[in-house]
Amino acid sequence: MQQIQQLFPSEDGNLEQRKEILNYIEKIFTSLDELKDPEKSTLGPMQERSANFYKELIENYEVPVKATGMDNVVNDLIDLMKGHPYHTRKFVTNVLPMASIPGIIGLLTTTLLNGNNLWDVYGPAAAESEVKVIGMMSKLVGYDFTQSWGYTTWGGQGAVFSGLRLAIAKQFPHAKEEGVPRNLYCFASENAHYSLLKSAEAVGIGSNNLIRVKATSDHSMDLKDLANKLEEVIHKGGIPVYIVATTGATDSFAIDDVKAIKDITTKVEAKFDLKPIHIHADSALGGFYSFFKSYDFITNPLKFEDNVVASLQSINERMQHISLADSLCFDFQKLGQTPYLTSLFLVKEGKHFGLLDLEDFDTPYVGNRGYGSYHTGYTLECSRMGSSIAIYAALTAFGVEGYQQILANYVRVNLAFRDKIQKQLPNVSVVNDSNIGPVTAFRLYPEGLNWSQEKTGTFTLEQVQAINNLNQSLFEILGHNRENVFFGDTTKVCTIPVIDSENMIPVAAAKLFAISPYTEVQHLDEMVASISNAIQTLEESNVELVY
Ligand SMILES: *Cc1c(COP(=O)(O)O)cnc(C)c1O
Repeated sequence: MQQIQQLFPSEDGNLEQRKEILNYIEKIFTSLDELKDPEKSTLGPMQERSANFYKELIENYEVPVKATGMDNVVNDLIDLMKGHPYHTRKFVTNVLPMASIPGIIGLLTTTLLNGNNLWDVYGPAAAESEVKVIGMMSKLVGYDFTQSWGYTTWGGQGAVFSGLRLAIAKQFPHAKEEGVPRNLYCFASENAHYSLLKSAEAVGIGSNNLIRVKATSDHSMDLKDLANKLEEVIHKGGIPVYIVATTGATDSFAIDDVKAIKDITTKVEAKFDLKPIHIHADSALGGFYSFFKSYDFITNPLKFEDNVVASLQSINERMQHISLADSLCFDFQKLGQTPYLTSLFLVKEGKHFGLLDLEDFDTPYVGNRGYGSYHTGYTLECSRMGSSIAIYAALTAFGVEGYQQILANYVRVNLAFRDKIQKQLPNVSVVNDSNIGPVTAFRLYPEGLNWSQEKTGTFTLEQVQAINNLNQSLFEILGHNRENVFFGDTTKVCTIPVIDSENMIPVAAAKLFAISPYTEVQHLDEMVASISNAIQTLEESNVELVY
């Protein structure tokens, strides 16, 4: 038994056991550091995986009968790190951030305590941090903290799902017992994250009752189309329950106008005598730009460059009304600089959680005692990790100004990247040119064609598809080179009209997502050069570039 006890942290705080665990950690850090190279986007050479890789794993592995020994375990873990993507300056593929030191230390503390965030009797540290974080973020976005409430959950997708659960409960408090009526409808922009698709499926509304609202040329929700589609649904006997306003789209950083959406729903509710339609601002990604809500753009205390200030101001203008939404989300594992999974779901009127709560007699183990006052019976999860501890650590370590610095740098890098593309790559256009933020979607064209012609619908279906294919070929080449610069890509940054079809056609583009704290303007020339080389390789490979 003593040997088994050695696999645990000490019971009494003795030095030997502490040293042992710290030695393992030291060894992991040292090995990780030895694999690092700022000029690469991976930890050592990328490992090519055969077609049979996972099949062989499942065949070859079983639980060892005898203990393996911690040294072997640590060596095994070190092997797992080899060839792993790593968030150096060259890592610009998608919103996959590096976890910061406060985030890592926060999560380590969570793990060492290993409390259960279900109930404060079991997880007081997490309960305390969760409430602190709810208070901090409520004030930041402009929610009334005496009314708001929230919890950490399973991602931005979990927040979209939780918002929908609330939306249904607010209009149909008995849906919990009776199931959902067949005529409920959800609305989101065609550029929204697919979270709502899954959520509509999961709650039983059905994805046919998810209405996709058109987007305008700046990729945000077309408000006229929203108003029309709401009325159309109502005329056919449907009940709108949920609108997701994307505030910072994952590929284009388009920001839907929450204030206008709120105005439209208020009017529709009055006109048709409807109960309030729940608006969720899907701010998983973009919500972090609320850190600029109180920034003094005139005195500019952090001395950002003029073009950076102007861009931040335009983001802020769009983002400032997210407090009109009934619920929000902050994916701290995205721009909040913490490890997976640290998403905060925030609700304007916390009292509505009461509609989802379990009755005391349904929870025989927890909650209904004379002690403990924080029992999250309203979450879909039962046991919950205390991810708010890492969030709390990051918020206090960075402070508003720290976040302002890092968020401004993403914008600075994207402004400079766009400028360089325009000057150095005449056949490449920026597709999300009307939005600025951490991401740039760029698209390669055959000689003489460009995005400003294409977006207005002057091309044929065949032309747009050919340009999509051209860009797919470019991704292949960029992808092969990802060990050196890891660009991203998307098959649908938005959709556009064409001359000869009624359908809207998806637009494929490559992406630069500035997400590493180490990516700075001075690293961009090399990146632009690698795009230029990829285009040259493509041209040499006889791809038909004439249309
Ligand atoms: C990332 C993202 C999601 C999904 O978040 P997860 O944390 O991956 O579940 C939802 N909406 C938007 C706008 C996102 O950027």
